[in-house]
Amino acid sequence: MAQYTPMIEQYLRVKEGAKDAFLFFRLGDFYEMFFEDAVLASKELEITLTARAGGGEDRIPMCGVPYHSAEGYIQRLIEKGYKVAICEQLDDPTVTKGMVRRDIVRVVTPGTVMDGKIISDKSNNYLVCVTEQDGMMALAACDLTTGELYVTSVLSGAEWLRDEIGIYEPAEIIGDARLLEQLRSEASLLSKPVVYTPWEKRDEEQARRQFGEAAWVRLEKERGQCLALLISYLGETQRRSLGQLSQISPYEPGNYMILDPFTRRNLELTETVRERSKKGSLLWLLDRTETSMGARLLRRRIDKPLLQRAPIERRLEAVDYLYNQFIVREDLRLALKEIYDLERLVGRIAFGSANGRDMNALKLSLAQIPALKALCLSAGSATLREIGSTMDECAELREDIERAIVDEAPVSVRDGGIIRPGYHARLDELREASSSGKRWIAELEAKERQATGIKSLKIGYNKIFGYYIEITRANLTSLPEGRYERKQTLANAERFVTPELKEKEALILEAQDKMTDLEYSLFTELRDRISSQIPRLQSLAENVAEIDVYQCLAAVSAEHRFVKPKLSEGYDLRMEGGRHPVVEAVLKDSAFIANGSTLSKEEGNILLITGPNMAGKSTYMRQVALICILAQIGCFVPAASAEVPLIDRIFTRIGAADDLIGGQSTFMVEMADIQVMTEKATARSLIIIDELGRGTSTSEGMAIAQAVIEYVHDTIACKALVSTHFHELAHLEDSLQGLSNYSMAVQESGDKVNFLRKLVPGAADSSYGIYCARLAGLPEGIIDRAYHLLQSIEQAAPPGAPSLHYGGDDKGHSTVKETHGADSPQAATMAVPSSPAAAAAAYTETAVTL
Ligand code: ADP
Repeated sequence: MAQYTPMIEQYLRVKEGAKDAFLFFRLGDFYEMFFEDAVLASKELEITLTARAGGGEDRIPMCGVPYHSAEGYIQRLIEKGYKVAICEQLDDPTVTKGMVRRDIVRVVTPGTVMDGKIISDKSNNYLVCVTEQDGMMALAACDLTTGELYVTSVLSGAEWLRDEIGIYEPAEIIGDARLLEQLRSEASLLSKPVVYTPWEKRDEEQARRQFGEAAWVRLEKERGQCLALLISYLGETQRRSLGQLSQISPYEPGNYMILDPFTRRNLELTETVRERSKKGSLLWLLDRTETSMGARLLRRRIDKPLLQRAPIERRLEAVDYLYNQFIVREDLRLALKEIYDLERLVGRIAFGSANGRDMNALKLSLAQIPALKALCLSAGSATLREIGSTMDECAELREDIERAIVDEAPVSVRDGGIIRPGYHARLDELREASSSGKRWIAELEAKERQATGIKSLKIGYNKIFGYYIEITRANLTSLPEGRYERKQTLANAERFVTPELKEKEALILEAQDKMTDLEYSLFTELRDRISSQIPRLQSLAENVAEIDVYQCLAAVSAEHRFVKPKLSEGYDLRMEGGRHPVVEAVLKDSAFIANGSTLSKEEGNILLITGPNMAGKSTYMRQVALICILAQIGCFVPAASAEVPLIDRIFTRIGAADDLIGGQSTFMVEMADIQVMTEKATARSLIIIDELGRGTSTSEGMAIAQAVIEYVHDTIACKALVSTHFHELAHLEDSLQGLSNYSMAVQESGDKVNFLRKLVPGAADSSYGIYCARLAGLPEGIIDRAYHLLQSIEQAAPPGAPSLHYGGDDKGHSTVKETHGADSPQAATMAVPSSPAAAAAAYTETAVTL
């Protein structure tokens, strides 16, 4: 057995407590890593790997980063999904005999990081904790940077957990290993990489202390258990008080519309499907918030539309008022603009990492509150007045900071220069002592110049020798012998001191030392005083965020001509002139074509929509879903008028070909989702199926599509929009009373096909699949052959089935007509051009208002 040096032995002992993390082991001015940590870290951080003797047989691999620049290295490792345990020296090495004690003071993990790139202003950084016990599933989501802590639970449900996690997009998930394994298999649904940390230790006592007995006893058992797990993990990793986690926000899943990850992605609520960027998403369109808290609240609201009418009406009332009050909106905006991220400031104050600049940011933010409060109190909106009346200006905190901290505070809190003159008598005395000492020195310089006649005599200072009198070599002869004590010889100068100078120096340095210590302790006292008021600041931050969201939604609604939706507790959905807000906003040259929607018990609750590719089917279906979501988050909606029933859940399923997951299992994935849908959808749900059954053979796909539609119609009886390229399914209108055929109109004029983007009753002619193949430039031979085959397939169809008639000649001038719906006035025929070039020319995208 190799015998390591005591230091390496100590390292190994500490490392035992941080097996899954890099151990940053403090040695003087460096954090060193050893053994495998060093090998891996040197690769990941691109730093030099060295080795040192450590008593063992082989030299020990080692690498290190300077203490003062460690933050950046830690962040890089965290971004790569690692954890970093920081091990500090617990004793002062300058006064300790023998080896200093060392221990881990904090473990930084992706879910508990407080700073850096991973923390974006406008989104949260969640650590999610999941538990399953006695059939109950619980989830707690906490953001240490803002102090938010949500907890919820349901009676068992793997999909529920997946949906809920999808909303938080956590950086890290902790919980029982088996449960994590299950979640990991569905990780592809998450848009961010996530780190899984198995954790099973609960600490109920610590949780009780953290939240207080009163809050604790109100919690359901499984939620308490989940929090006890979370708190024990935070205790173990953070090893400090977590003042920012003072309030638990429990919620009932049943109070919110359920949006599974597929649906959220497919509706592009917070990011686009293809680039996964915020730009182009609903959030992007809506986000006119002025504060980071507002931006995060807006995102949360989009993620969790409400299900009860009263709270939605409360929100709409505020938006309605601000919609009509441009001046108030502007005034609010101007005040909000000046408010910093209160939640994160409070997080840093609680964490003990806030500096003088953070304090000033808090002060400047608090200075805006009186104006904000006054605007709310005088508003013609009950919602805003209510917020105004609960707003706590925290004026004494602002004054406290104002009195204590200088306006231009330094970054460091340890080097002084942070406390305002007049704040503390002793500090002022010390400052006076130090500056009078410095004055004395300046006077001494003048005096000695005069006395010696040496004009270039100067008094300087450095850290090693302190104050000295410097005389250039050329002038040394003019200096009377023995006037000063010789201290240091330089190439072209000589440095001297005098006993008096040394005395003053001692006074100055002592005063300076005391000053910086005193300033630091005055600063931390102030920080602690503010820290004890965190709940007040947090509720204020919530107020600010809410006001910000209202001004934002009102501004967007006004700009994009949204209208106030009429919410109903009934079944029917009626929209006139509905628009897709994002598609409309990005359309450059052409106008967006509005379309109405009626989904009702009387007029039918299922629309079966046909029409060629690019006709606007999916845009239309998504627009209906988005209008419902907008209404239920309490925003105006892009329509001429809208009566929106409260939807409990939106399912969207998109065809396999559009699905990003790829691979052969896409059809299986689609079917698995349909299964969830059949199990979970209620009559209050909205189902959107785009190109159902695409992933399998035509006849099977069609069969499944029909069976699913029948099930939705007969059993679930919810509102549904289904698009299909199986226009043969149009016959379902005859057998399913609640289903109506619609199509996206196209118009041909000469060689051109115009997409009218208008939803019209009746089925479309065809999906023009072969037509599209020709557009793509496939050889004429293939196209002709395809038309022939289509014809023979149609003829072979069993009697009674809907059939397509292929009309036209073999030279390519063909029209495709479908019997069903051919008598509808809108049924358009499509002239198919004869050459690929002509076809390409014809395939233009012009929208014409009907
Ligand atoms: P489909 O689902 O039928 O293939 P999409 O819904 O994807 O068609 O629409 C294709 C494109 O047509 C959209 O990207 C959009 O630019 C445009 N579009 C769709 N609906 C409309 C509309 N109502 N008004 C104007 N342009 C539209």
